[in-house]
Amino acid sequence: MRSEQESRILEEAVAQADSIAIAGHIRPDGDCVGACLGLYNYLQENFNASFEKEITVYMKDIPETFLFLKNSGKPIWEFEEEKQYDLFIVLDCSSGDRLGEAAKYFRSAKHTLCFDHHISNSGHFTEKLVLYPDYSSTCEVLFTCMCEEKISLSTAEALYLGIVHDTGVFKHSNTLEQTMCIAGKLLSKGVDSSKVIDGTFYEKTYIENQILGRCLMESMLLLEGKVILSYLNYKTMRLYNVDPSNLSGIIDQLRVTKGVEVAVFIYEVQPQNLKVSLRSNGKVDVSKTAVFFGGGGHREAAGYDVHGFMHDAINNLLVGLSHQLEEE
Ligand code: 5GP
Ligand code: MN
Repeated sequence: MRSEQESRILEEAVAQADSIAIAGHIRPDGDCVGACLGLYNYLQENFNASFEKEITVYMKDIPETFLFLKNSGKPIWEFEEEKQYDLFIVLDCSSGDRLGEAAKYFRSAKHTLCFDHHISNSGHFTEKLVLYPDYSSTCEVLFTCMCEEKISLSTAEALYLGIVHDTGVFKHSNTLEQTMCIAGKLLSKGVDSSKVIDGTFYEKTYIENQILGRCLMESMLLLEGKVILSYLNYKTMRLYNVDPSNLSGIIDQLRVTKGVEVAVFIYEVQPQNLKVSLRSNGKVDVSKTAVFFGGGGHREAAGYDVHGFMHDAINNLLVGLSHQLEEE
């Protein structure tokens, strides 16, 4: 399962660097947080025994439910004027502009290395890329690049969290035999599976359940019932006092609607700053739709950001989806 060559890529890059930055995509999800903290713990525990290296994680807005992970208080989101890292490691992120403000240090770093599983990652933006588009998660990619004996419980917990989230608790089609084997190996390190799954995936606050209910109630079936769509505007988000991390289960519930090929969920992060999430039940490749609108992702889960009015975003998207549905 573990390729010698790949574990060397990580070890060699780290050995040659005195200062290392780690970052993932903006609005980090379970896989992104798991990968960033999993790698941070792994490097600190195995390659920095006497703290001679400076290792920094850049991450903003870590969802509260992930804060049980070791070192979840370490990530920062502060940037000095002049700073150059020997090595910048990008995780779960398929383009430089999704790094947010951290892109500044990425651009000035002496060396860059990216671990990812997004099929839309062209690799042009980074010096070295370890990309496995058929792997469930970046955490699965990282596991294969790490030395299994060097993975501690705290690293295992973070990687397990990432796999759980990107596979929708081992139910999406990206869950392969290898995914389950790796999850098993992580469990053998002592991970409390129920704590991770219930505590970070299924448990909802009262308000999260209310907003889920509202989005389901207001959802629409479109394009002859092949597309289900729901959205939340900025005003409603403020009314409930929710942020993007409170909305994570909505798209999954829309997707399991019988007869539907594509599920769409759009929310307004800031006035006229929209985030579109797409899920497919297999026939439509939603990463193509997302890439067309400037985003990316996977065949069955993708997304993009768009500026403008909600109704324009919906109209434009439906044109794209109707073409794709015709092609099938
Ligand atoms: P989600 O809908 O859960 O935010 O994202 C689904 C998948 O699409 C994830 O793998 C995520 O990384 C990817 N994705 C979502 N939004 C964007 C985006 O704006 N740009 C790119 N490149 N990928 C995105
Ligand atoms: Mn991922």
